[in-house]
Amino acid sequence: MSSNNLLCWICGERPADSAEHKVKASDTRSICSHCNKAGTQGYDEAWRRLSSYLHANWRDITARGSFDLSKVFGAETAKQAVRVQLYFVKAFGCKLLEDDIRVDLRSFSAALMAGIAHPEVTLLVTSSLVPAGQMLSYESDVSVLRNGDEVYSAVWMNLVHPVGIKICYLKAGAPVREPPGFPWHPTRQRKLVKLSPYKGDTEPLVARRDLRI
Ligand SMILES: [Zn+2]
Repeated sequence: MSSNNLLCWICGERPADSAEHKVKASDTRSICSHCNKAGTQGYDEAWRRLSSYLHANWRDITARGSFDLSKVFGAETAKQAVRVQLYFVKAFGCKLLEDDIRVDLRSFSAALMAGIAHPEVTLLVTSSLVPAGQMLSYESDVSVLRNGDEVYSAVWMNLVHPVGIKICYLKAGAPVREPPGFPWHPTRQRKLVKLSPYKGDTEPLVARRDLRI
């Protein structure tokens, strides 16, 4: 299926004509070039800064088991933390659409357009188990937990060795557990991000015991 005839899922106005694809975390052909550039470049820049910091300081960070966003962003930490999340909200929205996983992307679009954090998307930062000295990058399949046609949760991992980011969508009110570890959300944990266990890439989320299927 060609995506050229479709509208951008972020703005819903312009054709999905972004020529840029597979150069960042995800294929962005499902959005327009405006949304991929002018509309979201601040999000890309926030992640680029954080990613550089993580790669430069990863040995110390894994020894401590956490890192402090204010070391990267200083007085702008609250604002930039939201932008980091939105970078992954954009990438994840493109990936969900590309893989035909039926998550309603209107909430993704609304967050990106308004520049406010998506309430149902968390990030887990993890250290990969790839042996030292290997420079690997890896993008997992999306692990989906469904109830009938309704997507309860979707988890996707982007790894640029040794830094792995699991992007987790958890539908509000769905009877599922958060992934093991320390899901980070920019409005809940302001500065300190704890590392989560690697545990494979996107292990299925375990439904709560009271979920009856
Ligand atoms: Zn657009």
